[in-house]
Amino acid sequence: MEQISLDQVFRENNLKRTKLRIALLGCLINAKHAQSYIDIKEGMGMEVDKSTLYRNLSTFEDAGIIHRINDQSGTAKYAFGKVDHYQGNHAHFVCEQCETVYCIEQTSDLEINLPKGFKAKGIQTIIKGICSDC
Ligand SMILES: [Zn+2]
Ligand SMILES: [Zn+2]
Repeated sequence: MEQISLDQVFRENNLKRTKLRIALLGCLINAKHAQSYIDIKEGMGMEVDKSTLYRNLSTFEDAGIIHRINDQSGTAKYAFGKVDHYQGNHAHFVCEQCETVYCIEQTSDLEINLPKGFKAKGIQTIIKGICSDC
């Protein structure tokens, strides 16, 4: 992925730049894997209240700048990346040991036979296993 400039992201999405948003986005851009609320809070290095943080995360999510991953642990994790960077879906790898979530490039769509009359709106692929750090 080419170098992403924060300014560019804010400009392209018509988002107001605030100190908090700059820290938040910077933290997500530099992260090598999906970040939980606690990861983000630590990564930002500033005091921020929970509802403010979640409000800004959902603003970014609505703008398509970041995506949320629900790894079924009950903790939502967030990763930088417009969905179209991946031309459709990409998979998430969840390490069962350290609970780290990684965005994984998915080279082909899964083939699933939906029953007649069902309309799919998206597929979330979760791969469980052990990561290279564990
Ligand atoms: Zn691991
Ligand atoms: Zn992802």
